[in-house]
Amino acid sequence: MTHPAQPKASHFINGEYVEDTAGTPIPVIYAATGEQIATVYAATPAIVERALSTAKEAQKAWAKMTGTERGRILRRAADIMRERNHELSVLETYDTGKPLQETLVADATSGADALEYFGGLAASLTGEHIPMGEDWVYTVREALGLCVGIGAWNYPTQIACWKGAPALACGNSMVFKPSETTPLCALKVAEILIEAGAPAGIYNVVQGMGEVGSALVTDPRVDKVSLTGSVPTGKKVYAAAAEGMKHVTMELGGKSPLIIFDDADIDNAVGGAINGNFYSSGQVCSNGTRVFVQKGIKEKFLARLAERTGNAIIGDPMDEATSFGPMVSENQMNIVLGYIEKGKEEGARLICGGKRADKDGFFVEPTVFADVTDDMTIAREEIFGPVMSVLDFDTEEEVIARANDTEFGLSAGVFTNDFSRAHRVIGQLEAGSCFINSYNDAPVEAPFGGVKASGVGRENSKEAIKHFSQVKSVYVRMGDVEAAF
Ligand code: NAD
Repeated sequence: MTHPAQPKASHFINGEYVEDTAGTPIPVIYAATGEQIATVYAATPAIVERALSTAKEAQKAWAKMTGTERGRILRRAADIMRERNHELSVLETYDTGKPLQETLVADATSGADALEYFGGLAASLTGEHIPMGEDWVYTVREALGLCVGIGAWNYPTQIACWKGAPALACGNSMVFKPSETTPLCALKVAEILIEAGAPAGIYNVVQGMGEVGSALVTDPRVDKVSLTGSVPTGKKVYAAAAEGMKHVTMELGGKSPLIIFDDADIDNAVGGAINGNFYSSGQVCSNGTRVFVQKGIKEKFLARLAERTGNAIIGDPMDEATSFGPMVSENQMNIVLGYIEKGKEEGARLICGGKRADKDGFFVEPTVFADVTDDMTIAREEIFGPVMSVLDFDTEEEVIARANDTEFGLSAGVFTNDFSRAHRVIGQLEAGSCFINSYNDAPVEAPFGGVKASGVGRENSKEAIKHFSQVKSVYVRMGDVEAAF
């Protein structure tokens, strides 16, 4: 019998499901059991061509619609996503292995927020009037054209919407390629947009590995590329996009600092560290994986952290009581276990976790290392799993310098009850998305993105509009033209 997660076909182009079994088969493995639940096929060159030519053509009429009309469609899609939240959350859980307890509140709901927010903004995307004496200049905020979205595997529904919603609101069309590890959810987003009244061809989904992504990025018809992925992939995609002088948004990896001063509320700080390391089993780009704790409260913090981490319910992600799921894939589990071994070898003190959980599927226990030093591998490289490094510090000045000593700059957090210190420290941290007495909130109203190697551009908020549109300026002369001859 076909598993309920098996999609009707691999790709969604021009308003319908499309199959081409000549492409490389991509097995979809349910991370909680290791079972294969579906198969899709990587896009062949013919499929890539069909998606790009369709999206290029469909964009012209879409951009000519009024913002109000485009926005209405996006807002209707948001409503449909919310009505189907349960069904979409179950699919997200099959795609990623994340517990239903999370997917019910963080994935289709976040996607719907983006569709609603950018649907609401679509009608107000205007230019300005610049008086020049009797003459004037007016500006027009125009669509870029055909955009390519490429996703990572941790938030397949959310990423498909965070890229699609602002792109479509501005009058662009999109070809979206999900991660080959989680190919299922974006197809539903495409289906729902059509149901909400979107014209065929403005949002298309094609499957495949890096090769397909690369074919999309290098196509001369493409005007913009928005990637969510790792820094090495980001460097390749940015370089390829530069060849064609294309616009880019790069949402890449991190190794973010979370700084806890000794006057902080310990339970809130522990809660922040848990949210910033163990949500989605640690597979979150903005995670605060370098937890700097001021020496005076270190042992108290570690004791409370170990106690609360012990309350994680690890198990069947479809059981709503489960609060901690597996790694997305066997490969990712092995990468994380490799880092845990490195942590042990390099002399970090294991506080809890530290091994594969005794279950089917790709579970790794939530793991905390203390006495981590700045040069240890687990403190320098992005692990993308449930491995928290706790480092000690003495002074504010010292911790700021150490926090910034990394190629990454996605996020940063500070816990303290001294608000002048909180703002002073955050002001000096090299990061794009920061938190004071909180961690990992990502509301659609706030810009999200990194500095340094963690990325270029911003998603969400009004900032995203700037990255999916361009400004045309028009000088209007009222009198005669003066010329030298
Ligand atoms: P990845 O870099 O391996 O792959 C990302 C996507 O790029 C995939 O769809 C992949 O098929 C595609 N790709 C690979 N090579 C390509 C190429 N040459 N041209 C075009 N596309 C190519 O990343 P991943 O393992 O899927 O995801 C984990 C990474 O993503 C982590 O580093 C994480 O921090 C990052 N991430 C960042 C954010 C953010 O918003 N900043 C969010 C989630 C994940």
